[in-house]
Amino acid sequence: MSKKTKTFPLPLSSVMGRSSFEKPDYFGNRSRFDSVTVDGRPGKRKTDVPESKPVRFQGAGLNGPVASKTLRSMTERLARAGIADTVVLNAIGQIPRHLFVEPGLSGQAYEDVALPIGAHQTISKPSTIAKMLEALRAGSRQPCMKKILEIGTGCGYQAAILAKIANEVYSVERIKSLHELARRNLRSLRIANLRLHYGDGMLGLPQVAPFDGIIVAAAGVQVPDALLDQLAIGGRLVAPIGLERQTLQLVERVSENKWESTVLDDCHFVPLRRGTV
Ligand code: SAH
Repeated sequence: MSKKTKTFPLPLSSVMGRSSFEKPDYFGNRSRFDSVTVDGRPGKRKTDVPESKPVRFQGAGLNGPVASKTLRSMTERLARAGIADTVVLNAIGQIPRHLFVEPGLSGQAYEDVALPIGAHQTISKPSTIAKMLEALRAGSRQPCMKKILEIGTGCGYQAAILAKIANEVYSVERIKSLHELARRNLRSLRIANLRLHYGDGMLGLPQVAPFDGIIVAAAGVQVPDALLDQLAIGGRLVAPIGLERQTLQLVERVSENKWESTVLDDCHFVPLRRGTV
């Protein structure tokens, strides 16, 4: 790691309220952390409920109108559960989740559950995705962020949603079979502003950095340094951190050398792993 001083905590420090410590990162390097911002939940929430527009699905396993209605009731449930950002709700409401799960599981596609997608991985719970996107957008009134990086494409569901809230989305997956699955799943949606990459997301995507948003869909013991470095100043990163006990954390890059972290919630994600398979 460079000589930069990074104001960014590990989860235990956040939970335990420690303000300064050193710990080895994933690569055995030592990172220095100076202060911690832990204030529980993110700031103000808007209270308006979104208009849920009906969505037409073609080539869907579920009958189109039924899927559309079910998707609409899913977003209404998310709104009732406290998701207030209408941009997030509308984005989720435009992506048919059953297209991203095996036909045998499509009956559960609109329930708020994680489901298997193969290779021991899962599609995230809609409520978890909604919470992460809300934190990433920070209550912004702008409909679109500029450039987002997702680590952990999986089946491509969250990537498709991200493409509705950002001008450019890059998503990296380390398991070849899932990278290809995501490509197949996304084909019919014809999303022009989404690029899928096969590789180790712990290295980020330096060739297209910096990002104004980074979202990590798998839990590591800390945020990889490469991702902190590739976050634009003023940018926000949301990641699950921890092994058995995990918390969802928001990291904001406040200056060239300073990152601040906020613990948002407990969570449960598959592990972030190094390398490709
Ligand atoms: N975004 C998905 C969630 C996929 S689960 C959704 O829409 O529901 C998390 C994914 O992270 C898994 O597919 C896993 O293979 C991937 N992953 C774990 N470590 C990774 C790494 N270092 N780089 C890229 N992907 C990784």
